[in-house]
Amino acid sequence: MALIVQKYGGTSVGSIERIRSVAERVAKFRALGHQVVVVVSAMAGETNRLIELARQIQKDPDPRELDVLLATGEQVSIALLAMALKDLGLKAKSYTGPQVRILTDAAHTKARILAIDEERLRRDLEAGCVVVVAGFQGVTEDGDITTLGRGGSDTTGVALAAALKADECQIYTDVDGVYTTDPRIVPEARRLKTITFEEMLEMASLGSKVLQIRSVEFAGKYRVRLRVLSSFEDEGEGTLITFEEDAMERPLISGIAFNRDEAKLTVIGVPDRPGIAAHILGPIAEANIDVDMIVQNVGHDGTTDFSFTVHRNEYRKALGLLERIRGEIGARAIEGDERIAKVSIVGVGMRTHAGIASKMFRALAEENINIQMISTSEIKISVVVDDKYMELAVRALHQAFELDKEPAVPATA
Ligand code: ASP
Ligand code: MG
Repeated sequence: MALIVQKYGGTSVGSIERIRSVAERVAKFRALGHQVVVVVSAMAGETNRLIELARQIQKDPDPRELDVLLATGEQVSIALLAMALKDLGLKAKSYTGPQVRILTDAAHTKARILAIDEERLRRDLEAGCVVVVAGFQGVTEDGDITTLGRGGSDTTGVALAAALKADECQIYTDVDGVYTTDPRIVPEARRLKTITFEEMLEMASLGSKVLQIRSVEFAGKYRVRLRVLSSFEDEGEGTLITFEEDAMERPLISGIAFNRDEAKLTVIGVPDRPGIAAHILGPIAEANIDVDMIVQNVGHDGTTDFSFTVHRNEYRKALGLLERIRGEIGARAIEGDERIAKVSIVGVGMRTHAGIASKMFRALAEENINIQMISTSEIKISVVVDDKYMELAVRALHQAFELDKEPAVPATA
């Protein structure tokens, strides 16, 4: 008998029919003797609908009130799922985040979980009850309702699994696992049986939308056994997120992530002298704009070009700022480009193997794709390319690293 936390996303509870089928899956796990905690999202589209309503009143809705509003989405699904479970003859009880007492900080719309009072849930489980908890929400010390940021139900699931020391946290979604890359771009993309927690963290931060990044961080910190599965299939093991120590041999590259979330800014012809990077990026940091990639090209005439990327949402703001300080830093011109994409290869195998970068660059060169910027970490290499070549780049890399084939070394945990 195991204690399992199952999280179902919006599409998995998108209709009464779907809610019933979630209840049936839960019933199967109960019949096997497992204790089950279910975390659910709002029904598909509901959170967006609520945000839209709020925006009709306030262009920039008040964060505290927005949280009160958004929390209703999940409250609907927990009640309906508990009813569906009872309808199947199971004992079930639904709880909102504040009822459980999922304590968070007060950062409305992006709150962080601080503690979970799991005693009551444990009592219910002991009494043979399925516990249904609203994802994405919590409560502050002062009793205010908070939400955890878009996709936050994943984090609720993992956090509950950590608090209850569950045997496994299963994330049920509309895909049947984590893929080498998005199958909509590369039809040969392959489902990974396992991926290490670090790789998953990179994939999530680089644009893969399968799991909310905070949930992965949480799983790593508390060593939660996490599995991604399809709620539309009965069979299938999905993808298990493992810890590297548990993994035997890993393939060199596990996956390719990509996104169009960033924009590039270039400061042209700044005097090449100490302090220039600080002078350019200082005001950017002060304006709370996150910088991702940075490249400085050394010039031969005593000046240099300095490029960096920011989130597209902050592009205009960053551009305006640079134009304002252009004279001050003695730059010749400021250029910006929103039509860029970031393509990254991720794999812990990179740590122990040389030559991965050159293989990546060669594959892109063969397609005549120009690399505008490069950044690396121990387990990933990212490049910035022209937006219009993004899909081609992903396909070329998928092929070059033969990600369509099962790795020769078994990647089993
Ligand atoms: N309902 C929230 C959202 O749409 C949280 C979640 O689904 O995880 O972002
Ligand atoms: Mg989600």
